[in-house]
Amino acid sequence: MMNLNAIRHFLLLIILTALSLQVQASSSINNLRIWPAPDHTRLVFDLTGPVEHRVFSLENPKRLVIDISNVRLNTLLEDANLTSTPISRLRSAKRDKTGLRVVLDLAQEINPRSFLLKPNQQYGHRLVVDLVLAEQQPRVNQPVAKSVPVKKTVVQAPRAQRQIVIAIDPGHGGEDPGAIGPMGTREKHVVWGISKELARIIELDPAFKTVLTRTGDYYVGLRQRVNVARKARADLFVSIHADAYRLPQPQGSSVYVLSDRGASSESARWLADSENRADLIGGVEGFLTLGDKDETLVGVLVDLSMIATLSDSLKVGSKVLKNLGQVNRLHKNKVEEAGFLVLKSPDMPSMLIEAGFISNPQEEKRLKDLAYQRKLAQQIANAIKDYFLENPPPNTLLSKEQTAGSSSYIIRRGDTLSDIARRKGVDISELRKINSLSNDIIQVGQSLRIPST
Ligand SMILES: [Zn+2]
Repeated sequence: MMNLNAIRHFLLLIILTALSLQVQASSSINNLRIWPAPDHTRLVFDLTGPVEHRVFSLENPKRLVIDISNVRLNTLLEDANLTSTPISRLRSAKRDKTGLRVVLDLAQEINPRSFLLKPNQQYGHRLVVDLVLAEQQPRVNQPVAKSVPVKKTVVQAPRAQRQIVIAIDPGHGGEDPGAIGPMGTREKHVVWGISKELARIIELDPAFKTVLTRTGDYYVGLRQRVNVARKARADLFVSIHADAYRLPQPQGSSVYVLSDRGASSESARWLADSENRADLIGGVEGFLTLGDKDETLVGVLVDLSMIATLSDSLKVGSKVLKNLGQVNRLHKNKVEEAGFLVLKSPDMPSMLIEAGFISNPQEEKRLKDLAYQRKLAQQIANAIKDYFLENPPPNTLLSKEQTAGSSSYIIRRGDTLSDIARRKGVDISELRKINSLSNDIIQVGQSLRIPST
């Protein structure tokens, strides 16, 4: 016969079991967001709490199965937009008593990776499933030259002159909106607008070409951003952001370069601990706390995960800051150094531009205006071109042997193209040609190349 105490324990056990089941089953899927990018597609399940999950592939036909335990579905997953993704169909069904199975029919070979994310400023618990497109294998294997001696070319062809490559990095993207202004303007959209304009303006000069670290609205890991620049052998890396602060007053543009003087230990540790996490999370900034440091630095420390040739970065950064001062207030009138030890160095000057404070209502209004974005981009482009005219990398279209005799001239208020041509004793059509101008519109602060006479 059971004594009273045993019964009490037994009842308690039942209650606890029921409670724990309830706790486990209380997570729900409220939404599914899909972010297609050129090399992967990201699925983000918005959850009310953490879940257990399992992801595996099936063949014939190719499918990816996502099993989630103890979860309720509060949305119709089948409504998700699958355009530009490798998913041809998405189905979901209840599995066991409390689980859910999601099946993706795949039109392409992918490698899955998945992880859970804790809540940040913008989102709650999330389950992220990335479908990384499998690398295209070359069809024909190149025979490996094992013992064939390499013939040395005796005749030296003249070195081809190359274009100067500017890597432009529009911050954030995809499920990471960056900072959000009081009117709801998202940093990722503002920096995308400025970056696209910047690329367009820079490419008007045939001596330059640009590469964008992201080409649409999706998140790119910090490492990957640097890799894009490195792969393109960029001569300069420019990351574009917009600042935010918890108070509405701060305003103005700033330019940051990396410091080689080492990290605040907190951020260094953070980087070391979570190198992978930074790559995985679309919205890392919320995780880093810097204690008494200016809040605005947080994004910079996280985003600029690369070392620079500091003096070059400072030089070009100062030019950019000075030019930005012509169209906007400056938040700080010196290029700032963000001090932390970073990943192994790509040898390229790098800077991060905070175009302005999206948290300042007036500045937010300007920042979302296309004409203003264009003005900022023009000033940044002028500064960059100016820097490379003065410091041309070897074997580029601007290097000394190429531009021997030509000089540069910065346009002042009141100048016209015909005036400059007359003063410098050159033909105006020549002036247009060497500067790839399609008309005679010039801007104060713009740098013109003057052909030798
Ligand atoms: Zn940012």
